[in-house]
Amino acid sequence: MTIYNFSAGPAVLPKEVLEKAQAEFLDYATSGMSVMELSHRSKEFDEIIKGAESLLRELMQIPDTYRVLFLQGGASTQFSMIPLNLAQGRKAYYVVAGSWGKKAYTEAVKLSKTIPFEPICLASSEPQNYVEIPSFDAGAIDPQAAYVHVTTNNTIEGTALYQVPDTNGVPVIADMSSNILAADYQVEDFGMIYAGAQKNIGPAGVTVVIIREDLLNQEPVLSSMLDYRIQAENNSLYNTPPTFGIYMAKLVFEWVKDLGGVAEMEKRNREKSDLLYDYIEQSSFYTSPVLHKKQRSVANIPFVSPSAELDVKFNKEADAAGFKNIKGHRSVGGMRASLYNAFPRQGVVDLIAFMKKFEEENA
Ligand SMILES: *Cc1c(COP(=O)(O)O)cnc(C)c1O
Repeated sequence: MTIYNFSAGPAVLPKEVLEKAQAEFLDYATSGMSVMELSHRSKEFDEIIKGAESLLRELMQIPDTYRVLFLQGGASTQFSMIPLNLAQGRKAYYVVAGSWGKKAYTEAVKLSKTIPFEPICLASSEPQNYVEIPSFDAGAIDPQAAYVHVTTNNTIEGTALYQVPDTNGVPVIADMSSNILAADYQVEDFGMIYAGAQKNIGPAGVTVVIIREDLLNQEPVLSSMLDYRIQAENNSLYNTPPTFGIYMAKLVFEWVKDLGGVAEMEKRNREKSDLLYDYIEQSSFYTSPVLHKKQRSVANIPFVSPSAELDVKFNKEADAAGFKNIKGHRSVGGMRASLYNAFPRQGVVDLIAFMKKFEEENA
């Protein structure tokens, strides 16, 4: 039976990448050692981390005025690091368009009890259950504010922000965890971009941060590990970095480059997701909660059947048929197909055939 992994993260990785890692597993570049056994200060690892950075710079066309960091603690640690480093004594705005954006805002509020800054919820679609990205008036933003935080892809709710909003000149910070390298953004439109690796970049354990140099904190913060300037000055080697994860990220970057880069990935992802959206749209059995067509995520596609009981049945039968991890997030229920870069088109075609059959048997 073919297994298709629809997991939202940790997610499917390109088979070619896993095979390359397997082939090099015991002996990396004739070093006689596994990547996991290499010193993070060795010549071999230096080439890996520099190679990963330069590939990412090439793929995303990252200008020289930005620093690229490979950190730990997941995207969630960035929820605290961002205000800690950038917001002290200032205002920090949050656009809350999904559960992750809400978490980022909630962490900021928590931190503001001990660090002086003012987190402000600029707009929220929480009352609408996040079926759309909320809009806001740029004129309401204090131009002296530290940043406006957005989530480019709402992993749980299936909406995405493709047009970077007008923020009255205030830098935009984007949580790009679930659509980095899957949709084509201009790095210059952002002050900072960050992403946990486990959706589109590699295994869990690495967090990519791309930050404009002039936004690096001037003053040391609370802890060295949480200090962007210290991390940048040490080229992400202030302490032992997640070496194997960075190596895997490098292999994934090579794979994306070989396939034609980010624009090509976006094209393929749109094609894959359109297949599923088009099917859902013409169906009278399945529905997608996403309100606006132009806000549809190409990475995560939530959908439901006519009842919660049928959703349970769908998930059970889908799992048995090899469609793994298609159950929706525990907070929203239903189903969710995550179609990241490494997810094959054939998996979408086969899923649609399964959905048709399920509809016929249960309508
Ligand atoms: C998965 C996800 C996170 C959380 O990432 P961790 O690495 O588990 O902390 C944050 N934001 C978004 C948009 C996500 O998809």
